[in-house]
Amino acid sequence: MKSLEQFLAQIDRPLGYAAKVSGAGRARVRLGRYVTDQLTNLSGVPSPQARQLLRRLMRLFQDYDGLAEAARPERLSAAQSILAQLRDLPAGPGDGARPARPEDGAALAQSIDHLPGVGSRRAAQLRTLGASTVEELLTMLPWRYEDRSQLCPVSRLEPDQFHTVMVEVKAVGGGRTRRRWLAIVELVGADDTGLLSAKWFGQPYLQQYFKIGQRVMLTGRARPNSYGGPRFQMENPHYELIDRSGDALLHSGRIVPVYHETRGLGSRAIRTIMRRAIDMYGDVWPEVLPEWARRAHQLMAPSQAIEEVHFPPPGVSSASLQNGQSPAHRRLIFEEFVLLALGLGCRKREVKQRRLEARFSKEGPLQARFLAALGFSLTTAQRRVIAEIERDLSRPEPMNRMVQGDVGCGKTVVAVCAMVMACDAGRQAAMMAPTEILAEQHAATLRRWLEPIGIDVVLLTSGMRAKARREALARLGDGSAGVVVGTQALIMSGVDYHRLGLIVIDEQHRFGVLQRAELAHKGRDPDVLVMTATPIPRTLALTVYGDLDLSVIDELPPGRTPVATQLVDASRRVEADRLLRRELAAGRQAYVVYPLVDVSEKIDLKAATQMAAALGRQFPQTRVGLLHGRMKPALKERTMREFASGAIGILVATTVIEVGIDVPNATVMMIEHPERFGLAQLHQLRGRVGRGTQPSHCLLMADRAGGEEARRRLEAVVRSQDGFAIAEADLAIRGPGEFFGTRQSGLPELRVAHLLRDAKVLEEARACAQRILEEDPTLARPDHQALRSAMGRRWAGRLSLMTIS
Ligand code: ADP
Ligand code: MG
Repeated sequence: MKSLEQFLAQIDRPLGYAAKVSGAGRARVRLGRYVTDQLTNLSGVPSPQARQLLRRLMRLFQDYDGLAEAARPERLSAAQSILAQLRDLPAGPGDGARPARPEDGAALAQSIDHLPGVGSRRAAQLRTLGASTVEELLTMLPWRYEDRSQLCPVSRLEPDQFHTVMVEVKAVGGGRTRRRWLAIVELVGADDTGLLSAKWFGQPYLQQYFKIGQRVMLTGRARPNSYGGPRFQMENPHYELIDRSGDALLHSGRIVPVYHETRGLGSRAIRTIMRRAIDMYGDVWPEVLPEWARRAHQLMAPSQAIEEVHFPPPGVSSASLQNGQSPAHRRLIFEEFVLLALGLGCRKREVKQRRLEARFSKEGPLQARFLAALGFSLTTAQRRVIAEIERDLSRPEPMNRMVQGDVGCGKTVVAVCAMVMACDAGRQAAMMAPTEILAEQHAATLRRWLEPIGIDVVLLTSGMRAKARREALARLGDGSAGVVVGTQALIMSGVDYHRLGLIVIDEQHRFGVLQRAELAHKGRDPDVLVMTATPIPRTLALTVYGDLDLSVIDELPPGRTPVATQLVDASRRVEADRLLRRELAAGRQAYVVYPLVDVSEKIDLKAATQMAAALGRQFPQTRVGLLHGRMKPALKERTMREFASGAIGILVATTVIEVGIDVPNATVMMIEHPERFGLAQLHQLRGRVGRGTQPSHCLLMADRAGGEEARRRLEAVVRSQDGFAIAEADLAIRGPGEFFGTRQSGLPELRVAHLLRDAKVLEEARACAQRILEEDPTLARPDHQALRSAMGRRWAGRLSLMTIS
């Protein structure tokens, strides 16, 4: 590594020499390479001005070796003047990562229309791309990179290969194709080694765009030219005019960033804006990570990372850039994950800090009676999770635990056991379900289990009649009801508890984090247990639910048989009907599910209604029931009860049955338009069957399933019975935003990191965040202030449970 002075001394002579000999055309020193190498080895750049000058120098020399002789003197004189400015700079301290100043954050939070060249129109366009502040602009990373650093002499082009060439325009002409009368523009260009032709179709304005004598860089496939003239021709190549100013080097002669574009704002324009933004603000990016962390994880300074992630220096591998694994990417991803993990860590600590009165007595009388009356013995996994819950409950701080387990693994019993423990401690317990039907079914189960042991259960939903509701509220208020089951109605105002001690939230992924917080405020810091059958991949669970402890039920109760799953296309519908008939004849029941994308979508409802009628005609011996979200609760309940009792043989339903419902005699799950469901959702639907001892079937009616991609997704469900594997696949295909519903995750948006792709960096960053919080739990230390304010910016409005400035 060299200092700036050493660097200046070292390039002084070669530059002077080149200036002298270049006219003679004999300069075969690879000066560009030499200067850029020296620049890369430079360490400890004193000031932002110096860094900016050095970047300009870098741009002057990146493509220098490929330049025509005539173009060189200009570059050299520009370089000389930069060097003079560098020598005049006052020497200052610093290692390139200067300590953060409080005003840095303010600079980054500025709106993008402060940037020169960004007016209201550009600003609006950038906003549609997700950048409204300087910080957001700088973290708007290229979605891919194009390597335009390797210039190929025309004489060395190879047939049908992609090449980038730099040529001077010798001729431009226009015409039209014979058949489709399409505008053609043809250009003939030359470098020192030969001639090349390029053709563009349907872009007549290009004829005015190119001027003879200009230099232009072309990237495209070289095709042997069969019509005489230049040996090779490129069709519709990428083109960039190379003017004499150093700025053109943004777009060529290097690895070039390619951004997502929007109407009226192309990648090229974004590149120019980005260059300006980085020149102005790249150095303002504060170092928020502690020195030890930067060293331990070998992270470059953030300002350097911002520069290099957009404008990679020579020598960075294209593949690493493409995969987000370049050192610059890693640095930014690491920082983003640290901020995320710190936020979650603070949230968790907040919860843990609240103290509860002692509230748990081991194996109370109710619990013993509950387990004895259960009628089956718990699986090992269930017992383990119950023990984990017991341990939580015997500590002074509130429980905040998630129980994760595939459909049918028996989460309800575990939750109910926890509720019984609360009752043993003289407290009330609440269970919140995402749908009324599920709440009703839970209420039935809980009554069956709890009333015999002397615990009163009430149901509370928004669809209840006023009188019933008043009664339920009264019994909650005076404490005569020990357990309440309900929907979101449980957290509405006007619901007051006597002594709420435990809240169970079923199917957590359907509720937002905020609701969880709201419910927690109903009691005085109650214990919280959340349950989910959406098996969330570990990396995601650690992040999205990083403020929860995690228990996994990884075992199904004995006697379950895997559900035979198949994709049924149009030609095999008849077979599917035969299977349905056979199962019904054997006294079993079936679900037929229609997607209801949106409650207001009448068409789907109509389709489900028609299907019910058609099935009724097809199977006159069987009663067909219809269940959808718009039905009156009473009717829903009756239909459900009739299906559960076996009076209804086929239940045509929209996705309201997606979660929870338990009818062991049902052996067929037929899903129409499976392509409209998420994979995890399909897996859940499939989990409705295979609950008894009989073999079960899941039929994905894919005859209309659009496209290859849709089929590929569905096949993941056919192949695997493992909810985790399916969830991974789903997540990989749809991304975390879709997977959870964007608003539901309650997390700051990840701008540079990708949860799946960067799982390893996430682990490291979590460890780092943990250590920071151990040393300084409230981030109060002066050297953590930059971190604190960065967190405030990233988590704005989302850390409702936390007091971060
Ligand atoms: P999920 O985890 O999908 O919510 P449930 O709690 O609804 O699953 O359980 C599915 C079925 O398995 C229920 O009928 C339940 O009574 C039964 N069950 C749960 N645990 C056991 C067990 N240990 N042995 C036998 N059956 C069990
Ligand atoms: Mg359940």
